Amino acid sequence: MQPRDLSDHAVYRAGRGIEEVARELGLDPDDLVKLSSNENVLGPSPKAAAALREYADRAHQYPKASHTDLTARLADDWDLSAEQVWLANGGDGVLDCLSRALLHPGERVLVPEPGFAYYGMSARNHHGEVGTYALSKADDFAQTADVVLSDYDGERIVYVTSPHNPSGSVMPIDEVEALAEGTDEETLVLVDEAYAEFSKIPSAVSLVRERDDVAVLRTFSKAYGLAGMRLGYGLIPVEWADAYARVHTPFDTGELTCRAGLAALDDDEHLERTVKMVEDARAYLADELDAPTWESHGNFVLAEVGDGTAVSEAAQREGVIVRDCSSFGLPECVRITCGTAEQMERAAAVLNEVSAA
Ligand SMILES: *Cc1c(COP(=O)(O)O)cnc(C)c1O
Repeated sequence: MQPRDLSDHAVYRAGRGIEEVARELGLDPDDLVKLSSNENVLGPSPKAAAALREYADRAHQYPKASHTDLTARLADDWDLSAEQVWLANGGDGVLDCLSRALLHPGERVLVPEPGFAYYGMSARNHHGEVGTYALSKADDFAQTADVVLSDYDGERIVYVTSPHNPSGSVMPIDEVEALAEGTDEETLVLVDEAYAEFSKIPSAVSLVRERDDVAVLRTFSKAYGLAGMRLGYGLIPVEWADAYARVHTPFDTGELTCRAGLAALDDDEHLERTVKMVEDARAYLADELDAPTWESHGNFVLAEVGDGTAVSEAAQREGVIVRDCSSFGLPECVRITCGTAEQMERAAAVLNEVSAA
């Protein structure tokens, strides 16, 4: 037997892991610096790590109270009702919940190009189809309602990534509102704020409070340093937020995951340290890289290095792993995750050296 025809389904290509690269190059993993997946190089919030140890002996229980507690906490923080907070297995899990809740078979979604691969993958996995709108490099990946609406044709979900991966550009909230106004009544504008902690622009959550057609996605994977725990959430209009109960898997966020999330929300120090490091790193890379870069609101910087594949492979041989952006349709670029001052010095030196060669 065979699965259904999956030839249109892309495979998610993650940034490469340290162990994988070290083995391949015969290097010591400790000599490598991994700047390819936008993880928090400072590690998890120490309070979250302590919670994981503290709750380890509860791992035999299905998560109930922890899910309720984290949902209540986030509802309180965002001034929403508990049913508007959709916890899921990473931000990716939120995308799946929304696909299940919204898509009829064959319905279309609209995704940015370049952009995050899982939007289209999730839609296809749920029998949807995918159209794209172009963010233009020549225009510094500017995100306006008009840019999206020029490619809009009644799609059911329109994905906006703000800050945008991989460019770092943002869509200001008045443009998000104009986009929601400009789309049909039955179209959801999903604002993916996976990197919002690194930006000073206001969250689109205010539109979730006011409207029934804007939702927001957030994650603990980036600023909170919990990518390995798989924890994200959607903030959903109250009018149809009760759909969650019908579409989420019975226990889609783990007991320890929820406890780690709760503890991380109380760890302002770790968050502030992370954001400060990222701001310093962005400024440093913009100054020190010979290659042109784009202003970034995320924990990464996009740089135009010429041949992104050659440069990332050469940098990797020097122990610096960055993201080749070919899979984003930007083969001339690499994306560098922000790290410590020491890591940024090394990354800039290596990238400048291998780009010049
Ligand atoms: C990292 C990321 C996410 C979510 O990742 P999870 O680890 O599944 O929470 C969502 N959108 C974008 C654009 C991302 O870069």
